[in-house]
Amino acid sequence: MAALAPTPLSKHPLSSSPKIFDSRVQSGEIQPTQFRFLASFRSNTGVRLKASAEPPALTRCDKPESLVEMESGCDLFDELKNRFLSFKSQKYMENSEHYQALSKGQAPKFMVIACADSRVCPSNILGFEPGEAFTVRNVANMVPTFESGPSETNAALEFAVNTLEVENILIVGHSCCSGIRALMSLQDEADSSSFIRSWVIVGKNAKLSTKASASNLDFDQQCTHCEKASINNSLLNLLTYPWIEEKVKKGVLSLHGGYYDFVDCTFEKWTLDYKGSITDGKNRAVVKDRSFWC
Ligand SMILES: [Zn+2]
Repeated sequence: MAALAPTPLSKHPLSSSPKIFDSRVQSGEIQPTQFRFLASFRSNTGVRLKASAEPPALTRCDKPESLVEMESGCDLFDELKNRFLSFKSQKYMENSEHYQALSKGQAPKFMVIACADSRVCPSNILGFEPGEAFTVRNVANMVPTFESGPSETNAALEFAVNTLEVENILIVGHSCCSGIRALMSLQDEADSSSFIRSWVIVGKNAKLSTKASASNLDFDQQCTHCEKASINNSLLNLLTYPWIEEKVKKGVLSLHGGYYDFVDCTFEKWTLDYKGSITDGKNRAVVKDRSFWC
C-alpha cells in the first residue's frame, strides 16, 4: 500500500525528449491534410444541407465519398471504407452472435475515462472489444468534481455507474499529454477566453501539488509528474459524487488509475484503496495493487 502520489520521475525516459507534438506536426506536415479535409466539408454546403434534410441520403455513400475525393484529392474515405469492410468480414461476421446479443443491451465491467489524444485509444492499447468498456474521452482524461455541475463526462459517469452498474472505473492518462502541458503552462487562471484553459483548470490541484513537490525538476519533467498527479486528482474527484462514493464504500465499485507511456510502450496500473472520507485530513486515500506492465 502506498500514498496517493505519482511515481518519482528522477530518471523518467521523457526527460530527454519531451514534446507535445511530434516533429511532423511541429513542421506543419500534417496540418495541410487536416485543412484540406476540413475545406472539403466546408465547401460542400449543399451536401450537408441535403444530408440534413434527407437523412437516408447518407446511406448512399457514393456521392459524398466521391466529392471528398474530387475536392480534396485524397482518398481518406477509401481507406476508412476498406477498414470498415475488413472489420465487417473479419470480426463482425465471424462473431455475429455476439454482435446480435449486443443489440439487446450492454453490460460492460469497465468505464474508461481516457484522453481524446489520437495516439492513446484505450480500446487499441488494452484490447477492449465492443461491449466491454463504456468509454468517455476528453482533453487530458479529467474528471470534474460533483460540485462543478453537468458535463458530458459526469453524464457518462452517471449512466455507467447507476444504469450499467459497471464494477470498475479506469482513468487512463498518458505521456506527452498536450492538455496537461496546457494546464502547467496556464498563467492566468481567470482567463476564460479559451475552452481548453477553462477545461484543464479541472486539474488545478494536480498542478499545485506538482509545483509543490517537483519544483526541482525541469518543466517537461514537471509535466510528466502532473500527468500522473492529475489521474490521482481525478480519482479523488470521482469520490465527490455521492453515488460513486457509496458504491466504493460498499465494495461494488473499484476506482483505478492507469498511465500509458507511449514512448516506451509501458503501462502502469494502480487501484484506489478508500474506506473513509477524503474531507478528513487524517484519512488519506492510498493506492494498492500497483503494477507495471512492460
Ligand atoms: Zn492527453
